[in-house]
Amino acid sequence: MKSLEQLVRPNIWSLAPYSSARDEYSGKEAHVFLDANENPYNDPYNRYPDPLQRELKAQLERVKGVPSENIFLGNGSDEAIDLAYRVFCEPGRDNVVAIAPTYGMYKVCADINHVGYRPVLLDEHFELHAEKLLAACDANTKIVWMCSPNNPTGNSLNRQEIMKVVEGFEGIVIVDEAYIDFAQQMSLRQELPTHPNLIILQTMSKAWGSAAIRLGMAFASKAIIGIYNKVKYPYNVNLLTQQQAIETLRDPYTIDKYVKMLLTERTHLIQSFAELPICEEVYKTDANFFLARMTDAQRIYDYLVDKGIIVRNRTHIQLCHNCLRVTIGTRTENAELLSALRQY
Ligand SMILES: *Cc1c(COP(=O)(O)O)cnc(C)c1O
Repeated sequence: MKSLEQLVRPNIWSLAPYSSARDEYSGKEAHVFLDANENPYNDPYNRYPDPLQRELKAQLERVKGVPSENIFLGNGSDEAIDLAYRVFCEPGRDNVVAIAPTYGMYKVCADINHVGYRPVLLDEHFELHAEKLLAACDANTKIVWMCSPNNPTGNSLNRQEIMKVVEGFEGIVIVDEAYIDFAQQMSLRQELPTHPNLIILQTMSKAWGSAAIRLGMAFASKAIIGIYNKVKYPYNVNLLTQQQAIETLRDPYTIDKYVKMLLTERTHLIQSFAELPICEEVYKTDANFFLARMTDAQRIYDYLVDKGIIVRNRTHIQLCHNCLRVTIGTRTENAELLSALRQY
């Protein structure tokens, strides 16, 4: 791996971060807060929230087994994705390499930040070949993006191949594990201590059932987390989100229950889907959705919209011609989808 100083943009490396009133004060004993121009009434919403979300991170440390100092929290994973560009990539000069097809935000954020985006096609089974990805990198490649389980394909990428990229690339490797709670594959979290160029993304938006609160996580070395913290907005995760996340994380059995129910539903739905005459193939999935190749994705999509049922049409994505991406819903929702498709 190159040194962090070589990888981080020079202006970010030398950045003196904004110092908020609450950053400068750090004692426990104070009880009169006249430092931040807050309104003293309307407790508890009158006060700025903890900029480093310490209580929430302490809880995540227990749930995820990752030390607080290795956790960054943002306004959804999307914030962590955008920050990666702002921290590492010099606009107009640097580039990133990413598997394709994959989650669309990596490219959108590259375009916004004026950073080159080099998609490298997976094979026809949506599998990763490390050499192909590494061959697309050059001296200005700062980040390699992978997503496992991948979106929109649903499959987990081969772990050995992922690690070949992590070990073979001298820049930053980001593995997005938004769907890891549904997967058979283990998280790469345990690889963090031995791989300082690795960043892992997770989110409360999927298995944890909390897309509305906007909470994404990045796990990485203490040095990378420190740089993220100085670039982020000072109060990027609001108090309501912090409180609600703490509440949800208190009860990990609930998410176990959700995951079990959704995986059972997934098995049923995939079986029935595969039997539909209009379905040509259901791809193997490790997530709470699946990709299915249909006889005519566009027409079937329009037909479903007409019935008030929305799936994702992926037919224009490379390797996904005539594919629909279907999220697993409740039993009733899945039954309604199937019944509509049987009448197509
Ligand atoms: C849904 C999803 C996310 C979640 O993004 P949030 O901003 O945390 O809601 C991240 N990555 C992938 C690949 C996703 O599909």
